[in-house]
Amino acid sequence: MQRKVQKISLKTGSPMESHAAAVLTPYAFSKLQEELVLAPQYASLMVDQTYFIVRHHTDVDGGCKVVWIPHDDFISCSCHLFEFSGILCRHVLRVLSANNCFHIPDRCLPTRWRNINCFHIPMMGADDLNGDGLSSVG
Ligand SMILES: [Zn+2]
Repeated sequence: MQRKVQKISLKTGSPMESHAAAVLTPYAFSKLQEELVLAPQYASLMVDQTYFIVRHHTDVDGGCKVVWIPHDDFISCSCHLFEFSGILCRHVLRVLSANNCFHIPDRCLPTRWRNINCFHIPMMGADDLNGDGLSSVG
């Protein structure tokens, strides 16, 4: 019997965090949670309906460009954290919450980060997941 108890504590109280905690592996969730905790420090400025600038509240210039097309379930940020790691960045999370989106789009939850109880990947440990996302082929 393998009993693996992961204590997950929610830090933001947001529905997105609960959603992530339910579907992601503990490692992936901890990475996403770091971003979620930082997201409220950012301002989301709508440029047009699908294009946002997300900027730290202490910055007067610059910031990341987020493109979000809800009906296509498409979201992308100029920091490319998601493309590299499969973890949504604080900028994307900020845009989602600023637009009353309380769940993480399905597309933004890569299979490799999902907590799938009936599916085991024997060779993959938490340490292996610490690297880059080069094994991911779009
Ligand atoms: Zn970003």
